[in-house]
Amino acid sequence: MNKNQLQQHDREHLLHPFTDFHDLGKQGTRVITSAEGAYISDIDGHKMLDGMSGLWCCNLGYSRREISEAIYEQLNKLPFYNSFFQCTTVPSIELADMLAEVTPAKMNNVFFTGSGSEANDTNLRIIRRYWDLKEQPEKRIVISRKNAYHGSTIGGASLGGMGGMHKQFQALDYIEHIQQPYWFAEGGDMSPEEFGIYAARCLDEKIQELGPEKVAAFIAEPIQGAGGVIIPPETYWPEVKKVLDQYDILLVMDEVIFGFGRTGEWFGADYYGMKPDLMTFAKAVTNGYFPLGGTMVSDRVADVIKAKGGEFTHGYTYSAHPAACMAGIATINILRDEKIIDNVRDTTGPYLAKRWAELSEHPIVGEARSLGLVGALELVKDKNSRARFDDDCTAGAVCRDMSIKHGLVMRATGDTMIIAPPLIMTTEQIDELVEKAHRALDDTAKAMA
Ligand SMILES: *Cc1c(COP(=O)(O)O)cnc(C)c1O
Repeated sequence: MNKNQLQQHDREHLLHPFTDFHDLGKQGTRVITSAEGAYISDIDGHKMLDGMSGLWCCNLGYSRREISEAIYEQLNKLPFYNSFFQCTTVPSIELADMLAEVTPAKMNNVFFTGSGSEANDTNLRIIRRYWDLKEQPEKRIVISRKNAYHGSTIGGASLGGMGGMHKQFQALDYIEHIQQPYWFAEGGDMSPEEFGIYAARCLDEKIQELGPEKVAAFIAEPIQGAGGVIIPPETYWPEVKKVLDQYDILLVMDEVIFGFGRTGEWFGADYYGMKPDLMTFAKAVTNGYFPLGGTMVSDRVADVIKAKGGEFTHGYTYSAHPAACMAGIATINILRDEKIIDNVRDTTGPYLAKRWAELSEHPIVGEARSLGLVGALELVKDKNSRARFDDDCTAGAVCRDMSIKHGLVMRATGDTMIIAPPLIMTTEQIDELVEKAHRALDDTAKAMA
């Protein structure tokens, strides 16, 4: 099939995730055909620096044969077996061991799933099981944050706090949402530090309002990813810690994006010095090469759910899929052996911080923020008042298209441009990324004038 035929068949038969089916029909899709290192290419031969690591997954880029070969060998040896009914496989045990090593102290158990959404559903099941076994069944409510992203199953989407999603389904009734720590958009006249404290105090207020005896858990991404790479003010996590320390409430950190090195530490919890009770992972655990997710379970929770008899009536056919686990093992080996995460912390992260900050001088950039190998640009009409161009987020969409034209994949979340490039990026490739982003900003300023 040629490009036009592919686009036509795509339109006729494929329903894409998070897509306006009507608009997609008009535009046609971009057909991505190959990838190498930190670059992807489409069917026209247009090569682009992938500033999004696929979808926050391909932290090691696209050329790691060790991972694809590990999958292939496993598929030839034992392509599938389940972990139900007292069975197990060698790769699943080995990956569980490795995860216990690389995750924060006192997280020594893992429940495998096929995706991040499923892992957050698993969290809801484990949270309830934990409090039931502790004989506090009245602890039922889970607090999350507005504009959070926790996946797209009913459980994941209920935990998430995205208005557009909530309009299209009926959310679970035991989940409550509080203020997000998004200073640029919602900080008003407060300084970032003041606003960080304020947003954390909103958790305390909500717990008081609901009654601590009814609150089971608080779930949060260390940094909101899909919400717009919202790096909380420095005061936020320490204050959240203080709040949580006062109450008997579980902390769930959703590390689906920030796990496996994005911040320059193994997990966002390490970066912020938090001690979660449950920790969701997916995406980069297999470098995107095979679907796999899961939740790390702390000793505090595992000791309770393992101590008493009675089956935990939950699990997925593909929990601990052996080929997925081999992909995870190969990925962690590369991250460790090649000191990829140290390099982000010591070299490429600081270099991106310096180069990315230069973009804040651009006339349409209200803020340029970054941490490790993740960054965001807030597009504005007026730098001082932080006023946007319009209510339809036209600038974001224009900037994304301009960026692709210049050979850089940046994503737009409203009028916030976000990047999360592969952790293997060199400083030269960071220069390339910043230069292309600059050109996209120039074109966007012209188009919006
Ligand atoms: C992507 C994502 C999820 C959902 O993962 P899927 O594999 O798409 O189900 C959950 N939480 C966060 C923070 C994510 O970024």
